[in-house]
Amino acid sequence: MVRGTGASSGIGIGYVKVIHDRKPVFERRRIRDTHAELEKLESAVSSFTLATEELAEKLEKEAGEKEASILRGHIMILNDPVLRSEIEKLISGGECAEAAVEQICNMFISVFSARDDELTRQRAADMEDLKSRLIRHLLGMDEVRFTCLPPDTVICIRELTPSMTAGLDKEHIAGFITEKGGETSHCAILARALNIPAVLGAEGIADLVENGDRIILDGDSGEIIHLPDEKKLSEYQNKKRLYDERTELLRNFRGRKTVDADGNEYSVLCNIGTAEDADKVIDGDGEGVGLFRTEFLFLDRKTEPSEQEQFEAYRSATLKMKGKPVVIRTFDIGGDKEVPYLGMKEEENPFLGRRAIRYCMIHPEIIARQLRAIIKASAYGDVKILIPMIADVTELRFVKSMINEIKTELDIKKIAFDKDIQVGVMIETPSACLIADILAKEADFFSIGTNDLIQYTMAADRGNADVGYLYSVFKPSVLRAIRHTIKCANDEGIMVEMCGEAAANPLMTPLLISFGLDKFSVSASSVLKIRGEISRYTKERADELTHAVMQMECSDEIKEYLSRQTQTM
Ligand code: PEP
Ligand code: MG
Repeated sequence: MVRGTGASSGIGIGYVKVIHDRKPVFERRRIRDTHAELEKLESAVSSFTLATEELAEKLEKEAGEKEASILRGHIMILNDPVLRSEIEKLISGGECAEAAVEQICNMFISVFSARDDELTRQRAADMEDLKSRLIRHLLGMDEVRFTCLPPDTVICIRELTPSMTAGLDKEHIAGFITEKGGETSHCAILARALNIPAVLGAEGIADLVENGDRIILDGDSGEIIHLPDEKKLSEYQNKKRLYDERTELLRNFRGRKTVDADGNEYSVLCNIGTAEDADKVIDGDGEGVGLFRTEFLFLDRKTEPSEQEQFEAYRSATLKMKGKPVVIRTFDIGGDKEVPYLGMKEEENPFLGRRAIRYCMIHPEIIARQLRAIIKASAYGDVKILIPMIADVTELRFVKSMINEIKTELDIKKIAFDKDIQVGVMIETPSACLIADILAKEADFFSIGTNDLIQYTMAADRGNADVGYLYSVFKPSVLRAIRHTIKCANDEGIMVEMCGEAAANPLMTPLLISFGLDKFSVSASSVLKIRGEISRYTKERADELTHAVMQMECSDEIKEYLSRQTQTM
């Protein structure tokens, strides 16, 4: 079985259409009449612009303005004075227009491709798309179009460009499979916006399949089943039917407030790892960012990201959220996340060692840089600070006093920031839970990190399958820890959210409503599911279920009871 990255949810079942995106071929010539060649370029630019605007308008109707702006961005790149003057210079020197466009675009492509951030690499893909289309216009060739496709077509192609994605005959496409491109590529963004299942990065697919072959793709798991037998086919037809029914049902929750059956309001926020992920929050209809795991900015690189780089990432996520809350967690390194350049000592028990805030206490300069970047980003929206791995109130006091120093420094330098920026505590150690009443007096909000809270409460490594039988949010001790934490927050009148995986577990929804949770923070793809779940319960029903559960002694019994009673969507 071939596999790629699931980039746009859904099951696609259909017949292969292999597209060999042949590059436009031209003969490189020396030009005498450079004036005429420059005019040819002008006319190709005009027809390119017209065709692109047409595609963008089509896309705007089918997907939205943001998606259309990807293509409008191509028009802007082409009108970039540097790019244009470089192309024109080559033509004036006697190069033919096609070769001039190719050379200059390739120059930009190699600069962009060499960078290791996804966003800049994406610009290389955009430039590649633009280059090949502009050359086609110069040659008077037709563009690659996916119109008049037979129903249930699964397109298999090396790389799908934004212009191809926009131009396709959406009704007849059952899915895309590409060899290149990842979850954050423009192709993935467009596929999601158009609701077409897609698996990207499936190397070798174009050579493996032939036109007309039956094929199945799973846009969540990234699985591809080529030439399925009857049994597999009917298994996936069933899966597809269930998926489609559920999606239809959940679509009704898009753009709606999150309310329970009594009309009490909640929020469903999202967990993100990069500033770019904020786009997924918008796509998924999240009500803000409940957890920005900033350690991803520090991983897989050789040096610490500068304060400016961090600031730009936090500001970018904040601006994308347009005033919705953005909870930025200071970096949680240590445990299973190693960062060699931070000079962390080897420890026998890294999960119990200098993880997160504990590392920061002995390296205050690093967290000071991060806090300054976050506080400065607070001038651009509703930013909140979240401190991970708190086990003792002195750790919270340490961070708060540092925040106060930074605020004074920024005030003196007349740098804007939110003077009332909130500081929250992650409740993910049993100690933090047991002193939640004390912490609630000094923190502005709580965020319950069940992934770690389960691990530390049960003394069961979250990554060790051998102790997996202990690792469950439905353990009575863990449920009591959650209930106690929420009660302490409610008693003190501070907001409490949950950002661990348990927040996205529909069986937990009635318990969390009954305990008094305010906000759920989940992956962008789970927002509608949890909003839908919350809408099903009155407070009375949630209390009834919770009362029964809290009498039970075993997690299996609890899970079974909840599954039976709730029959989730
Ligand atoms: C948690 O522990 O629940 C949490 C959200 O943090 P992380 O998974 O990043 O440790
Ligand atoms: Mg954690």
